[in-house]
Order: sequence, then C-alpha cells, then structure tokens
Amino acid sequence: MTDKIRTIKGMHDLLPNDISWWQKLESVAAKVFSSYGYAEIRTPILEKTQLFTHSIGESTDIVEKEMYAFEDRGGEHIALRPEGTAGVVRAALEHGLLFGQPQRLWYRGSMFRRERPQRGRTRQFHQLGVEVFGFAGPDIDAEIIVMAERLWHRLGIKGLRLEINSLGSNSERASYREKLVAYLRSRFDELDADSQHRLERNPLRILDTKNPTTRELLTQAPLLQGSLGDDSRAYFDKLINSLEKLGVAYTHNPFLVRGLDYYSDTVFEWVTDELGAQGTVCAGGRYDSLIQQRGGKPWPGIGFAMGEERLVELMRQEPLTGIGTPEVYLVLAGDESPLAGLQLAEVLRDELPNLRLQSNMDGGSFKAQFKRADRSGAQFALVLASGEIASNCVTVKPLRGQGEQVSVARAELAQWLRTHISQPITNAG
Ligand code: ATP
Ligand code: MG
Repeated sequence: MTDKIRTIKGMHDLLPNDISWWQKLESVAAKVFSSYGYAEIRTPILEKTQLFTHSIGESTDIVEKEMYAFEDRGGEHIALRPEGTAGVVRAALEHGLLFGQPQRLWYRGSMFRRERPQRGRTRQFHQLGVEVFGFAGPDIDAEIIVMAERLWHRLGIKGLRLEINSLGSNSERASYREKLVAYLRSRFDELDADSQHRLERNPLRILDTKNPTTRELLTQAPLLQGSLGDDSRAYFDKLINSLEKLGVAYTHNPFLVRGLDYYSDTVFEWVTDELGAQGTVCAGGRYDSLIQQRGGKPWPGIGFAMGEERLVELMRQEPLTGIGTPEVYLVLAGDESPLAGLQLAEVLRDELPNLRLQSNMDGGSFKAQFKRADRSGAQFALVLASGEIASNCVTVKPLRGQGEQVSVARAELAQWLRTHISQPITNAG
C-alpha cells in the first residue's frame, strides 16, 4: 500500500529543477563574501531554547509565537534555530573568537519559524548572513552595505530599495519608547488589536505595522530621530555620507525598526515591490549590546541576513542555463562499449575535471540513446561503438545545430572538447 505521508505544512522540498538557482545564489554569495575577507562558520541547527529567548527577546514575535521549541527525551529545553545571529554569537564566545580580534564571518542554513505559510513565507526557510565583530563603525556599516549591493549586482537582481534608519543608543531608545507609548496610549482605542497587544510588550514594533489606520495614527507620533543625541546623529550622518560617496542609493525610513530586540544605531533593509507582501529580502543592523549581554564585556557587532527563498524568486525572473546540465552525453553501442565507455568517461574526468559528462546506462538502440542525449540538454553526443573502439577514436555529434559530426582521435578528444564546448554565460558566478 502506498504511504500518504507528505511534507509538513510550510516545509518544502527543493527539487533538482530548482536547485541550480540555489547553487548559483550560494556560490556567488560565498565568492563575494570571501572577496571582502569573510570566513564561513557553521553552527548547530538545535540550540538551547534559552539562547534564543535571551538573545532575541522574550516579547518578540519569534519567541512569543514562532519558535519550534520542545523538550527532548532527556528533558532538555531545545529549539530549532529561528535565525542565525544568536548561534554565531554563542559560538564566537564559546571558542574565544571575540575580544581583542575582529572577525568577519558568514553563514548559511535552514531556519525555522512556525508562522502562517504564504508566498515568500515558509516554516523552514534558508538564510545567508554575515556577522562582523569588533568594529565600532560606521566604516564597517558602510562596507557591509556595499558588499550586499555588490551581491545583488553579481546575481543580476534589480529593483531593490535600500531603507535605512538609526535606532540610537539603548538609553535614547528607552526614552523614545516612553514618548511613543504615552502618545499611543492616548489613542489606544484607535489602535488595531495587534498593536494594542504590542503596546505593553514591544511598542517599537508598532512602527512597522501594516494596518492602515494605525499607520495613519503614526504620522502624528513622535519620531525616533527626535530622541537621538549628538553622537548618534553624527554616527548616522557619517554613514549616510559614506553611502553617498560610494554611490549607494538609499531611503531614510524613520519608521524602520527591526523585529529583534538586540539592535541599536544602524538598521537597514532591502525591499522589492515584486514579491507581494513579503518584500524584504535582506535585513540587518548593529547589535553592540548583544555581546555584552551574552558575554559580559562590551564588544561591537553588526550583521545582516537574507532570505534565500525570496532571492531565488527574484533570480528566476531571468533565465538560467547551464548549471547541472551535462555538456556531453556518451552514447554506447555494442557489447564491449558499456565497460569501455565507463573507462573512457573516467579518463575524460581526469583530463577535464570540470567536464559535465553523462554516460548512457542500461543500453538501448542508437535512436533511444540519442533521444536521451537530446533530452539531457547536452551540447555534444560522444559515440563509442565497436568501430570507434577498434580505431581508437570517438565520433562527436553536435546536438544543438553546431555543425557536422566528426571523428576525433582518442588522444585529441580532451583538447577538442576544451575548445568546442561553449561556456554557459550564467555559470560565471
Ligand atoms: P518579516 O517581517 O518578513 O517577518 P523578519 O523581520 O521576521 O521578516 P528577519 O528575522 O530579519 O525577518 O530575517 C531576515 C530575512 O529572512 C527576511 O528579510 C526574509 O527575507 C527572510 N525570512 C524571514 N522569515 C522568513 C520566512 N518565514 N520565510 C521565508 N523567508 C523569511
Ligand atoms: Mg517575521
């Protein structure tokens, strides 16, 4: 009997047809990050629940309602990571990577949040992110922003808008919080239910509400900028000035706050209009107090995380060819050719380590094999039958209208392929 067990709601298989986009995104990102001196770090998917409740904040959406947290068989309270920063900071503290030496790190991996699945919002999703420790800024703030811009450019993603804001210091934010709460309390009855709930728990989050009535109310609310002191303003102005000199377009969005408690000073997001309601593809900011809170000593940090699902959806708007498709398909006819073919394929892979070669399996007529060769997307079919084996050559048949078939001596085959296979342009990343 067939089993009807399916994927869990909000969790998706990434199938072979789609995977080329993911590979391109991840390989281009790894190259761009490494070109700025970043090293990769990998941390466990499961961590102690406390790590997240303490780092992210008890009254954030993630901790209040989205986290997959449970007790394991040994009675330990553990959680599937909902984001990457908390784990990277934990690892950096645990292995003595902080204090006295700066670090530029990047990570990628699955994150888990039990929220309502919709376009661009899944329960298992993937992030690529960076965390930088040990630079007080604002130079590094500018550098990580241009680095992300470079990545969009290298991926061919257009139409992203950079929004940026300053949250100021913790004490400035606390004094703003009081002013905001006082104002919103005076208009409590006009707030939407969600914002009423947030007013006591996490009032700053109300600033990025999507509710139109509450938004209208916010136009008369005190602005965060009004509570910033001279240092915070000077910091922000310096960053803005660097971005202008570097040619990075941005919008100052005074309502931009981040959903996580640990941010201060710089916060930013890249947004697109092309993905419906879930338009934020990358978000980040400075979190100078997080490390002090976790590790006991002050040490600055800044980072961002991008949603791979959303980026892949944008990348798909342009065609992608080449990655994963074989360049040559080996057609094998005659009794001795299957083994001879396996041998030839191994030698070719030695000679051309980047060659993508698919060998025919399980026999079949010439006609059937050429049909498979064509369907594979390969540029050339290599034919190895008894005649070729006897004369130590291979027949090469172009499959995409690039001329007549030719016979190539075995000794010259690698060189022939090297000069005739056309490089897929989009594989350049
Ligand atoms: P949102 O307001 O969309 O819920 P967030 O503030 O919760 O975003 P972050 O924690 O900043 O998101 O995560 C960084 C990025 O990761 C987001 O901008 C988005 O691209 C992606 N992301 C976050 N949650 C999801 C999800 N459930 N599914 C897919 N991508 C996500
Ligand atoms: Mg969210």
